[in-house]
Amino acid sequence: MKFIDEYRNPLTVRALAADIEKRVRKPLKLMEFCGGHTHAIARFGIRKLLPPDVQMLAGPGCPVCVTSSADVDRAQAMAGIKGVILTTFGDMVRVPGSRGSLEEARAQGADVRIVYSPMDAVAMAAKDPGRPVIFLGVGFETTAPAVAASILQARQQGVKNYFVLSFHKLTPPATAAILDAGEVNISGILGPGHVTTVIGSNAWKFVPEKWRVPVAVAGFEPVDILLAIRMLVDQVSEGRSQVDNAYSRSVLPEGNRTALKVMNEVFTACDTEWRGLGPLRASGLCIREEYAEFDALRIFPVTVAMDREPSACRCGEILCGVASPADCPLFGSTCDPQHPVGPCMISSEGACMAYFQFGDRLL
Ligand code: SF4
Repeated sequence: MKFIDEYRNPLTVRALAADIEKRVRKPLKLMEFCGGHTHAIARFGIRKLLPPDVQMLAGPGCPVCVTSSADVDRAQAMAGIKGVILTTFGDMVRVPGSRGSLEEARAQGADVRIVYSPMDAVAMAAKDPGRPVIFLGVGFETTAPAVAASILQARQQGVKNYFVLSFHKLTPPATAAILDAGEVNISGILGPGHVTTVIGSNAWKFVPEKWRVPVAVAGFEPVDILLAIRMLVDQVSEGRSQVDNAYSRSVLPEGNRTALKVMNEVFTACDTEWRGLGPLRASGLCIREEYAEFDALRIFPVTVAMDREPSACRCGEILCGVASPADCPLFGSTCDPQHPVGPCMISSEGACMAYFQFGDRLL
């Protein structure tokens, strides 16, 4: 419990950890879907607080990490079109495709710019109407509403040179794919706090209903996470499976109706490719026909080669909970945050990055 004094509520944390230890009846594998949880669990040394029978597995909840190599190639091809300004969030520019990253494309002359919000890209387009400005959107239900809002704003302002390249993804289909694959015997799922604030805790009911696997939605403070873990331990010990909510100060059963309305106005579910999980039905968000004039994929069609992940990188297996960063022979030798081989070492939500930054707090 070396790091416990750093907590805001060390006494509560200590009591929760002791409670969990008392209540565990058998070895459990709990998957944290969200990359934010992977980071928080590593940063706060939560694994050290848990009894050895409770194993935490990282899941596919790092949006940058699950963006496929082919999609990075697609973005790179668009960035190479004469006159195009390609904008995106910071981590995304370093993710490798089969022909390198967007950062490398920029070094070769492509106009790739980092923005903090899709609204910055709309403003950029309004200021420079002679050039197409493409916003590369990645992320789950958390970021998709803001990107949808940027399209609504561009239409309202009459900005005709703003486009979105949507690689957005939906979280429930990825969870279903992992449970269906059955490669890992998952005893419970720590539900993603930010995503569930948007989609609502009811959206996870299919997990206990279909697989009888408990879910507990968690926030990002150590107390939130430990409380959710205790809920999962209790459900397993008592033979229950339902959706519990340890983040009720943010998450409602029905979610955020305004955000969902904006997201569903602009996007519709479509099949998409996930790094690690492969193609999944209705797991992506494509731009609806009604907003086709903002859809970069329709306006700038590009062809890319088949998906090829960096050789030897085990990021895909890590995203499915099948391997841990420690299983990768490149971890910390060939691959580190300065010289990342795969996306799990690039994003602040990537499991390899979390293990690298906070390795001393893991075991
Ligand atoms: Fe891939 Fe690097 Fe992680 Fe290994 S350590 S799985 S190479 S990102």
